[in-house]
Amino acid sequence: MKVGIVGAGFSGLLSALKIAKYMDVEVFEEHARIGYPRHCTGLVSEYVFNYLGSEVGECTLNSFNRYIVRHVSRPNDEIELRFKERVYLIDRPKAEQYFADVVQSYGGIIYLSHGVKSVDARDTSISLMDGSKKRYDLIILAEGSRANIVRKLGLCREIKYLIGVQAVLRVQNELDHPYVLFGDDLSNEFFGWLVPIDEKNLIAGLADAVEPYNKLKRLISRYLRQFLNASQLSYEITEIFGGLIPMSKPCNQVINKVIGLGDAVSVTKPLSGGGIYGIYRQVRELESLKSLCSPEDLVKEYSSRVKRLLHELRLQHLIKDLINRKFNSINNLILRIIDSRINCIKVVDYDKLVIGPSEILKVLKLITLSVYN
Ligand SMILES: Cc1cc2nc3c(=O)[nH]c(=O)nc-3n(C[C@H](O)[C@H](O)[C@H](O)COP(=O)(O)OP(=O)(O)OC[C@H]3O[C@@H](n4cnc5c(N)ncnc54)[C@H](O)[C@@H]3O)c2cc1C
Repeated sequence: MKVGIVGAGFSGLLSALKIAKYMDVEVFEEHARIGYPRHCTGLVSEYVFNYLGSEVGECTLNSFNRYIVRHVSRPNDEIELRFKERVYLIDRPKAEQYFADVVQSYGGIIYLSHGVKSVDARDTSISLMDGSKKRYDLIILAEGSRANIVRKLGLCREIKYLIGVQAVLRVQNELDHPYVLFGDDLSNEFFGWLVPIDEKNLIAGLADAVEPYNKLKRLISRYLRQFLNASQLSYEITEIFGGLIPMSKPCNQVINKVIGLGDAVSVTKPLSGGGIYGIYRQVRELESLKSLCSPEDLVKEYSSRVKRLLHELRLQHLIKDLINRKFNSINNLILRIIDSRINCIKVVDYDKLVIGPSEILKVLKLITLSVYN
């Protein structure tokens, strides 16, 4: 089967990696370099990490068994999220270059600096910016959050976004583990984060719909010192990057013999903004169908198998809506959890937001109390 893939980002390359042994793969990327421009932090759960292949071990920057959650108006209180399995920080550009090398070693072709102008779902063809047109048996649309082609094909209509911005900082003091920071002066809709890369470098990031750069500056200038235990804060910003985070419910995933993957079809986790988990689930389904010879059968079977992921994500959207309705914002929920003295939550599944049974009871109690108050 001849497969054309639009976009050599995480989803385009991971899908190419998993199918290139069995199908003829051609990937089109508008940029001249794999992995750039950067936008992602690179945090993934252990089972997603394992699926990426053993070589990705060499692209690992750090790993964690807990995050600390803080609300900036309660600097002395914190909630520890203790993970059953580790969370890995991967060097995404390096991992994507590894995916690209493997794809090419299997005979797949990656065309860099080849922007795709449009995709025609009627004859399964890709038209390039240079005016040429190529036909395929199957097309994978992995164009990322801009989703221009996906929208033209009518898979998604309106997509809501947050803007995520990040800075890599060189600091004097080590950060022990990641922090997730809530507070109205940081983000109304989301949160900020600090993730240690190594003893001397960390990522400070924040996502919101409005003025994220100014809010990230505030996070660094006003709050960073508390987390580094430093009386005098000294840091140097070595890199700034970011991108759009789709916050809409998942779009339609297929049209004719075209399959959408990743941010292009909004399979982001709504409460954390993580997109790599959804990509892992989509690619795993695609890989399991690699022996099918008919593209029609493959697309039909894929759409039915990917439904479970979509239900799971829609449930997470529902939880997010309920939180906003009941507590007005995620910031207020965090304050309620802190005030009710819940200071440690065991996280059984990082991606599916499954927490330990005793924590479920505590959170249910808190929600029930807030319903009757
Ligand atoms: C600030 C921030 C932090 C994040 N942190 C995390 C995290 O820690 N963990 C996590 O799981 N997720 C995280 N995410 C989300 C994650 O980065 C995305 O879900 C993921 O990158 C989506 O991969 P993708 O392949 O769908 O899109 P992308 O990685 O954006 O790749 C799309 C590719 O398609 C190319 N392209 C687009 N249009 C065309 C065209 N017309 N022709 C040719 N090429 C084209 C682009 O150049 C790009 O290379 C973060 C996102 C942001 C913004």
